[in-house]
Amino acid sequence: MNKNLLFVALVAFGLVGAMTTPAEAAVQFCFKHNVDFIDSGLELDSPCDSYSPERCEDRWLDNDAYVARGIKATIQQKVSGVYTEIWSGYVDDGNGTDGAGCTPDLDPAGVNTGWYKLTLESKAKVNGDYVYVRDASNALAMATIVSYIGSDNTTYTYSFSGTSSGLTFERFNVLSAATQPLWYHDFNIAPWVYYYFDVIDSGSGSQYYTNTGHVEIRSTSTDNSANRKFIITHEMGHALLHDIVTSKYKNNSTFTDPGGTCTSATGNNHAVDTKEYQSAAMNEGFAHYYASIAFNRTDQDDCYFHHWKESRGTVDCEDTGGSLVEAYMLNRCYATSQSGRGVELDWWRTYWDLRVKGSVTDQDMRTWFQTADSWTDTDVYSKLNAAANDMGGTLNATWDDPAVPNNRIDF
Ligand SMILES: [Zn+2]
Repeated sequence: MNKNLLFVALVAFGLVGAMTTPAEAAVQFCFKHNVDFIDSGLELDSPCDSYSPERCEDRWLDNDAYVARGIKATIQQKVSGVYTEIWSGYVDDGNGTDGAGCTPDLDPAGVNTGWYKLTLESKAKVNGDYVYVRDASNALAMATIVSYIGSDNTTYTYSFSGTSSGLTFERFNVLSAATQPLWYHDFNIAPWVYYYFDVIDSGSGSQYYTNTGHVEIRSTSTDNSANRKFIITHEMGHALLHDIVTSKYKNNSTFTDPGGTCTSATGNNHAVDTKEYQSAAMNEGFAHYYASIAFNRTDQDDCYFHHWKESRGTVDCEDTGGSLVEAYMLNRCYATSQSGRGVELDWWRTYWDLRVKGSVTDQDMRTWFQTADSWTDTDVYSKLNAAANDMGGTLNATWDDPAVPNNRIDF
């Protein structure tokens, strides 16, 4: 590669100046995603600017470069004019360690200076779980960085964005968001769960498919899901719940009588604030919750989530946010029977209360879902209530007060 081509490569991928020293004479390569999310930086948006900034979601508030946790990388060194593989694998995910997003120290030939070719793929291993992000033809995105390493005994960090737009970029963007909740909250499912995302530049409506276990992320000018971190992790929440509860998984969103006063702004019968079958409210509420814990700290009470539908904007997932009152079904959906029904928002806030007010762990929640008897579309509350009574402890105490009393999912 001549010097001009080298210049192009470095502009596209951005070699970050920070170079540190590995423990021994070697080179080390680290990677960061340059992300682009519509639902970042919301502390600057209404209604967040009417509160203090810390009341909005805590993580990824800017479109910055974030550690490419566990990304698949192949490192080649140019030896006698030929690029030769010296390392291939998933880089460090940073779980419990420093140096996240980095290869091990590499010392392939004693002489480590010279030309390297660094190839990244849109898949990652985080906390023992695997995430694959592909296109409609099952192709992973690939990107190559060519770089001259002038100093031995050095760590080089690359800020990486694939191409600046289009499907390659979208697949890496989806990967960046999907690796975040796994790092914090994988519900101890490792190593047997795999998340598959298929990014499709057409159609509308991102969705989790129970038959394939795949999430389709639809990305068009009107439904730009690959650029929405809360959609990506919401759909992942469905996949996680399915893996936890297996055949008990239900999400029947066909109920079409939202009950007069709680009809959402768009009349959508499958929304955060409409009356649905309890199975749908429980499931969608969990998916919202999973996206919430990806980008909110659970050691702080406040919780914010940027919704993609109904002009809902930022939803307060801890307590009352504007018209989204607590115990929404109780207070807004009383025109028709509430029996066996639920509202996503109420279930979502119940999970958040369990986690944050009760310190209920991922493992507790997983055990609770797994030990509950199978539920129908209309008796999820009673089945989970029975399982909470059986488990006792913090989960049951928080469930009995304040999670259920505040949010009133007990119908
Ligand atoms: Zn959903």
